[in-house]
Amino acid sequence: MEHEQAFGRRETRQIMVGKVPVGGNAPVSVQSMTVTRTADHEATLQQIYALAAAGADIVRCTCNEPEAAEGLARIVPRSPVPIVADIHHQYRRALEALEAGVHCLRLNPGNIRNPEHIKAVASEAKDRGVPIRIGVNGGSLHPDLYAKYGGKVTPEAMVESALQEIAFFQEVDFDLIKISVKASSVPLMIDAYRQLSEVTDHPLHLGVTEAGPPPVGTLKSTAGMATLLAEGIGDTIRYSLTADPVEEARAGRQLLEILGLRERKNIDLIACPSCGRAEIDVVRVAREAMEAFEEREIPLQVAVMGCVVNGPGEARDADLGIAAGNRRGHLFVRGQNVAVVPEDEMVDTLVEWADYIQENGAEAALERASSTRAAARRAADEDRRRNLGERGEDANNSEAIIAEIRRSATTG
Ligand code: SF4
Repeated sequence: MEHEQAFGRRETRQIMVGKVPVGGNAPVSVQSMTVTRTADHEATLQQIYALAAAGADIVRCTCNEPEAAEGLARIVPRSPVPIVADIHHQYRRALEALEAGVHCLRLNPGNIRNPEHIKAVASEAKDRGVPIRIGVNGGSLHPDLYAKYGGKVTPEAMVESALQEIAFFQEVDFDLIKISVKASSVPLMIDAYRQLSEVTDHPLHLGVTEAGPPPVGTLKSTAGMATLLAEGIGDTIRYSLTADPVEEARAGRQLLEILGLRERKNIDLIACPSCGRAEIDVVRVAREAMEAFEEREIPLQVAVMGCVVNGPGEARDADLGIAAGNRRGHLFVRGQNVAVVPEDEMVDTLVEWADYIQENGAEAALERASSTRAAARRAADEDRRRNLGERGEDANNSEAIIAEIRRSATTG
């Protein structure tokens, strides 16, 4: 269904954050951030899937310790959406995150102040074609800028901070940049983004920092971001709420739908990226599922997962999903195995169960499968063990990447 574009969009350059285009004529994207310890890669992946199911197009994870970079090496190959590494004070974490394969970095110029370090990160990112977000934050401006603007955070000071950082990147000929000038004061951030959009055509990431818990946090963020989006400013957004991040992702998605900037969705199909553990061609099956659901108005989240080892757990927040294993499809409802079907019936089975859930609800679907659930779980366990036996514990070669991260840490 074609949606009407309610507001004109200011023209920006386009960058790619993994497979998601940001800027240019790309749809405004939704971001959110995990609150798990990144080193705990299983918990973090679970949250990433929940965020993707709630509407996040891109997810940011903190990279605040060497173990976090190692976590990223395990997370990136299995994440359904592109991953941004959030870097705080240490530029080395940025280099490690790049080694781990992240799709974007976020640097705060107020925290990484050594131009040589900034340039080292930019040139490594350039070699890898990975974009960087310059994340200016009203609460952590460079002391020189505070002084210059009379000890106050002003929109001018925030814009100048962003421009200084862009200049460092230009020195190494790096322009895969997006910028944010977030503040907790809504009038301040609105002004800063307006001024910034006058002086640069890099894509802009919108947000109100430390907005606090809902409902006030949601209102503040909406007031700031909706005002700018209605003026055509903003290419990607994040609600920063003191709440379960799933609420952030959901709010972001809803705001864009309300403004007519994103299509209201029918089926929300999520698919794993496929990795060394996959037992089917995930891209093909996901495409076939998308086609099969196209004409149906079923507002459910449906997951297509490449393996039964991690699929049902990673996508347990989806209403319904199917994971491949040993030429069979393991169907699950809310993470619980309910049936096993031949591989070539995976898509038809998904459609049939989606219809059933749409009509009767997920509880009824679990009830419907009460006599087959135990056997389905056993079959899934069997195929899980088989996959692990054949492909080993490290199907994505993450351990070799981690060894490289550790080696650079000791020699660097
Ligand atoms: S194949 Fe399995 S482990 Fe790999 S991304 Fe898909 S579900 Fe995750």
